[in-house]
This record gives sequence, structure tokens and C-alpha cells, in this order.
Amino acid sequence: MQILDGKKLSQKIELNVAKEVEALKATTGRVPGLAVILVGNDPASQAYVSMKKKACDRVGFYSVSHEMPESISQEAIEETIKMMNQNPNIDGILIQLPLPSQIDTTKLLELVDPSKDVDGFHPYNVGRLTTGLDGFVPCTPLGVMELLKEYDIEVKGKNCCVVGASNIVGKPMAALLLNANATVEICHIFTDDLKKHTLQADMIFVGAGVINLITADMVKEGAVVVDIGINRAEDGKLVGDVDFQNVAPKCSYITPVPGGVGPMTIAMLLANTLKAAQLHAGSAE
Ligand code: NAD
Repeated sequence: MQILDGKKLSQKIELNVAKEVEALKATTGRVPGLAVILVGNDPASQAYVSMKKKACDRVGFYSVSHEMPESISQEAIEETIKMMNQNPNIDGILIQLPLPSQIDTTKLLELVDPSKDVDGFHPYNVGRLTTGLDGFVPCTPLGVMELLKEYDIEVKGKNCCVVGASNIVGKPMAALLLNANATVEICHIFTDDLKKHTLQADMIFVGAGVINLITADMVKEGAVVVDIGINRAEDGKLVGDVDFQNVAPKCSYITPVPGGVGPMTIAMLLANTLKAAQLHAGSAE
């Protein structure tokens, strides 16, 4: 069994991004800029935004966060997005989700300029992903694909079971795997007999948000298991959706939580923002 070390790979990617930032600065005089919109006081969202800001600083990006109260109106957030769409110093716009219930999230995501949609949530980019065209791809599944590539894990022709079907994780994960010529099954909360599906899989990708959802009896010997879940256990520790201790011995490769997919998500946000900046500067390869 081998660990898929997302922490190590994310550091390597960060170094590359930092080098590219220097090159962009030398040729165009500008650095990539990321705007983050954070609404309310959710501690998890605040922690994610703070991690993203620190990562931007490490690679030399310009970053700005727009922090708004829980009671903010739809119109006020829309105005901020429109301003960021117009701002030439901003290449990427990230709306930290989830948003309060009075806010129409879909409308906001559709308002983001698709060329600044570094989260890949705009329907334009979703459409490009499902048709196999270049665009912005959601950071978490993109990070999973980079991890597989780093460890030379072939996806083509493999039976892949994606557990979780959200727009952020499961659906784009399935689209990327399908684009890479895997045979893909998507399971979700209404799937009958989850084990029947996971047991057939050469590779399992789980992002459901349920502690210990995937147990050893659900995994084929030699499978690759990618744990995208991030949950807070009763003792306060971060854990994934996989019963790591018992599943790991059966796997050929497995991601840990923390240190697996999580750091890759932030690395891909940096990579996507760099890509947006290069496109805006007309210096994309
Ligand atoms: P979500 O609640 O939007 O979606 C969860 C999905 O899992 C749904 O499709 C649901 O049908 C499915 N599901 C729930 N319970 C299930 C069950 N018992 N059996 C089968 N399917 C089930 O959540 P999300 O935003 O997609 O996030 C999923 C998980 O991934 C969470 O733990 C979240 O914290 C984590 N996450 C991690 C990263 C990262 O960087 N590693 C990024 C985003 C989300």
C-alpha cells in the first residue's frame, strides 16, 4: 500500500506557481490577483479563507478578501462581484460557500466572469468540462487528477466509483474521470446497496461528508481509494469518509486525511488563478 501524499505534491506545485508568478511579473509587470468573498462568521469558512490567503501570499499573488455580515443582501454581493469582474488587478473571484439562506447562490455564481471563475462553478465552465473542452475545473477534483498523475496511476479503462454527487466534488470528479476514459459510476445518498457498487470498483473516490462511510468490506483488494471527505470527529480531529486504518491494508494506493486531497485543493486554486492571470495577460501557453 502506498500513500498518495497531497501535502508533498502541493508544495511542489506551489513552487512552480511561484516561479511562474516571477516570470509573469518580469514579462508583463503584473501579478495574479485573487478576490475572495466571505459572508458570515462560519468558523470553517473563515479557516478556509485564511488558508487560501496565506497560500496566495506564499506564491506572490495579490489577494483581497471582501468580508460581509451574515445579513448582507443579494444586491450588495452582486455589486461586489460586478466590481471584481471589472477590476483589472483581479484575475480570479472565489465565493466561499455555503452562503446564508437568503442568498441565491446560483445567481451569484452565474454573475462571475467565466474568465475569472477559478472555482470552475460557472455553468459555462461546467459545460466546457462536460464536453471535454479546456476551461476552469473545480479545484478539488482537479487536485485528485493531479495526484493520480503524479503517482502514474492509469485511469483509462478502469472501473471508477464516485461516491457523492455534488456540483463541487462528485459531478466534476466523474466528468474528469470520464474525460480520461474511465468507466464511471456515481453513487449518492439514494443509491441502493452502496457496497455492491464500491466492491466492483478499481478506484473509489468518496466525497460524501460521512465519517467511516467506506469500510474494509466495501473495498476490493488492490483498489485505489481517494478520500475527499473532511469531517470533524468527536475528539476534534479531522477525518475523512474512509475507515482509513482498516481500508488502507487492502489498497494499492490511498489518500490520508489530512494531507491528501485537502492541500491539493488549495494548490489547484493557485494554479487556476495563475492560469486566469496568464490568459488575461495574453501570455498563456
Ligand atoms: P454535499 O453535502 O454537497 O454532497 C454530499 C454528497 O454525498 C451528496 O451527493 C449526497 O447524496 C452524498 N451522500 C451523502 N451521504 C451519503 C451516503 N450515506 N451514501 C452515499 N452518498 C452519500 O457535500 P460536498 O460539498 O460535495 O462535500 C462532500 C465532502 O467533501 C465533505 O466532507 C466536504 O467537507 C468535503 N470536501 C473536501 C474538499 C477538499 O478540499 N478535500 C473540498 C470540498 C469538499
